[in-house]
Amino acid sequence: MSDQHSFETLAIHAGNTADPLTGAVVPPIYQVSTYKQDGVGGLRGGYEYSRSANPTRTALEENLAALEGGRRGLAFASGLAAEDCLLRTLLTPGDHVVIPNDAYGGTFRLFAKVASRWGVEFSVADTSDVAAVRAAITPSTKAVWVETPSNPLLGITDIAAVAQVAHDAGARLVVDNTFASPYLQQPLALGADVVVHSTTKYMGGHSDVVGGALVVSDPELAEELAYHQNAMGAVAGPFDAWLVLRGIKTLAVRMDRHTENATKVADLLTRHPKVSQVLYPGLPEHPGHEVAAKQMKAFGGMVSFRVAGGEEAAVEVCNRAKLFTLGESLGGVESLLEHPGRMTHASAAGSPLEVPADLVRLSVGIENGDDLLADLTQALG
Ligand SMILES: *Cc1c(COP(=O)(O)O)cnc(C)c1O
Repeated sequence: MSDQHSFETLAIHAGNTADPLTGAVVPPIYQVSTYKQDGVGGLRGGYEYSRSANPTRTALEENLAALEGGRRGLAFASGLAAEDCLLRTLLTPGDHVVIPNDAYGGTFRLFAKVASRWGVEFSVADTSDVAAVRAAITPSTKAVWVETPSNPLLGITDIAAVAQVAHDAGARLVVDNTFASPYLQQPLALGADVVVHSTTKYMGGHSDVVGGALVVSDPELAEELAYHQNAMGAVAGPFDAWLVLRGIKTLAVRMDRHTENATKVADLLTRHPKVSQVLYPGLPEHPGHEVAAKQMKAFGGMVSFRVAGGEEAAVEVCNRAKLFTLGESLGGVESLLEHPGRMTHASAAGSPLEVPADLVRLSVGIENGDDLLADLTQALG
C-alpha cells in the first residue's frame, strides 16, 4: 500500500491484501500454531510458528505501521503486554525513566510495582511542563514516557518539545497514543521514538477485544522489539488481531463522531451548576488547548469533570447514569462512565498519580448526541 494514500484509505487497505489462495477480501483468521515446511527450513512466506509470526497478526502489524507512519508495528495480547515488552527491551537495571504524573493506572503500577523490582528507577513529572521534564532527567535516563491526552485528567503534553528535551539527554521518547488514536495524532512525525497503544480502546473500538501495540521508525529498535516480542511471547492471537484490524477500518468515522459528541457533552457540562470543572482539551480555557490544537486533528471522545458536591455526589452521578454504562475501559462505540478514584485509578491512591475524588470520566460514544445529553442531565439530577 503506497504511503501516498490518505489515512482513511490506509485504515481500510494497509495490510488488508486479498488472500492469495482464494481472493477473500478480508484477511482470514489464520487460527493455526504451526506451518508445513517444504523440506527442512523451507518456510512459505516466512511462517514457522505463530508466536513468531502469524498472517492475521502480520496484516494488523502492517496496518498499524502504516497508520502511525512508522516502519514496524508489533501487536500484543494487551496494552500492558506491549508496555512490558518495550520497557524490558529499552531498559536494564540502573536505568531511569521519567513518567507522567497523570497516566493510565496500570502503567504506573507496572513501573512502581514490577519494573522497580528489576532495578529500573523512575521519577514522576508533570509532562505538560517541558521544564519539569528537563528537571526530572538524570544521567541514567533512557526514556521519557508521555501520555497525551492523559488518563484521566486529559492533560496535554507538547510532543515535539518533549522529544527535543529527551533527545538532548540521549533518551528516547515513548508516547502512549491510546486516547488520541493515529487518526487524531501521529507522535512519530512529531519526534517520538515509540508509539504505544492499548488497541482495546479506540483502535478495536467495540469493547470486544483486549490488545496492545508498539510502532517504531528506527529499524534497529524495531528488530530488538521484534526479538523480545518473540522471546517473551505475549503476542496477539489471530482472532484478536482480526477484531482489531476490523475495528480500525471505521476508526476515522468513529473518531469524528466521538469528537462531535464529546464537544456537545463538554459544552453541556461547562454550563451545568453541579459541575465545578470540565476537563476537555477542546475547551479554549483548557491549559493545553493550544498545544492540542497544534498537534491533534481534533480533540477526541474523552471528557472528565469534577462534581461540585464532592466524592459521594460523583459516585451518585455514576450510579444514576443509564445510557452511559458504568464500567472501566473506553474507546468503544457505546458511552461509558466511571469514577477513576475508586475504579481505574484505585491503584494510584496515595501516589503522585492520585486523582481527585470528585472526578467522573466519560468515554463519549457514537450514539445520538442528544440522547447522551439527556442522560447526563438526568444523572446530574
Ligand atoms: C487501557 C490503557 C492501557 C493498558 O492497556 P490494556 O489493553 O488494558 O492492557 C494503557 N494506556 C492507556 C492510556 C490505556 O487507556
